[in-house]
Amino acid sequence: MTSRPLISYVLPIYREEGNIDLLHERISAAVATIDVDVELIFVNDGSPDGSLDRLIELSRRDHRVTVIDLARNFGHQVAVSAGIDHARGDAIVIMDADLQDPPEVSLELIREWQDGWDVVYAQRRTRKDGAFKRLSASAFYRVLGVMSSVDIPRNTGDFRLIDRAVADQLRRYGEHARFLRGIISEIGFKQKAVLFDRDARHSGTTGYPLRKMIKFAVDGITSFSAKPLQLISRAGLVMSFLALLGILYVMGVRIFAPERVVEGWTFIVTAVFLVGGLQLLLMGIIGTYVGRIYDEVKGRPLYGVQEVFREGEPRLGRTARGEARRRDP
Ligand code: UDP
Ligand code: MG
Repeated sequence: MTSRPLISYVLPIYREEGNIDLLHERISAAVATIDVDVELIFVNDGSPDGSLDRLIELSRRDHRVTVIDLARNFGHQVAVSAGIDHARGDAIVIMDADLQDPPEVSLELIREWQDGWDVVYAQRRTRKDGAFKRLSASAFYRVLGVMSSVDIPRNTGDFRLIDRAVADQLRRYGEHARFLRGIISEIGFKQKAVLFDRDARHSGTTGYPLRKMIKFAVDGITSFSAKPLQLISRAGLVMSFLALLGILYVMGVRIFAPERVVEGWTFIVTAVFLVGGLQLLLMGIIGTYVGRIYDEVKGRPLYGVQEVFREGEPRLGRTARGEARRRDP
């Protein structure tokens, strides 16, 4: 029986037939240099090309390969979630399949994990994407940073390693509009960044056209922020204040310069100001409740436990975490 830690690679596949073999080769070569066992979990996300055939062929040649063929295209975030659900490793590496995330970098992630970090995310030092992708990504992260309630590290994708404990916690998040990097940030545990240079896509074209990118950005912002709703309340307060000033002005004119007032003007203008301010204020109140309903409906776990210290139970050695855990019954 082996006591080496098992590392699961989760690889979402959408139209990647030109990348699968090289990806498999590069991961195999990389992990051959370290002392771990691996399983490769390929999740076919309804690819219309020959990806599935490639994967099945691969699984015949290599017993470490598992192929999960989703019933249709569910999108990248769901595909990764499916892979995590099926992973059995002590740690899980999430990686794009187009070789933009260099497999060699995953070795560094594993090393940091063995040093005791629970989430090791790969942060881009440079990226080789087009100007539009770079601009839109940077704008998105800026907006997200201002809006969101959790600190989501910039310049990171989903390329990261998570410990078993983090994966178990992640599985308690049942929300459909998934923004994994946000959820993983929210989960906590000991998180660390590793810098890397992001390569260009090896073969094929992006599976994230503008339409999907916008949906992804909206998911990211709305699932971690109730700020847009709070804005209504704030606008309501400002409007109400302005309405009050407006009403005072109208009254003043009515009293001090009645000759300038058309019949009925005072009443109509006061009513317009009053109703406008009130409406926004009330919508803000409704917005607050909608925000709370949204929070409850997401059904996120209340807390996550990193470790329990109890007398008589020795802690697992951090560096030998994989080995220790696998010896558990
Ligand atoms: N992907 C997926 N389902 C999709 C779109 C993409 O599983 O609907 C996978 C794709 O195969 C790749 C990863 O998600 O492994 C990232 O996609 P891509 O490289 O196309 O996105 P980009 O790097 O251009 O943002
Ligand atoms: Mg890519």
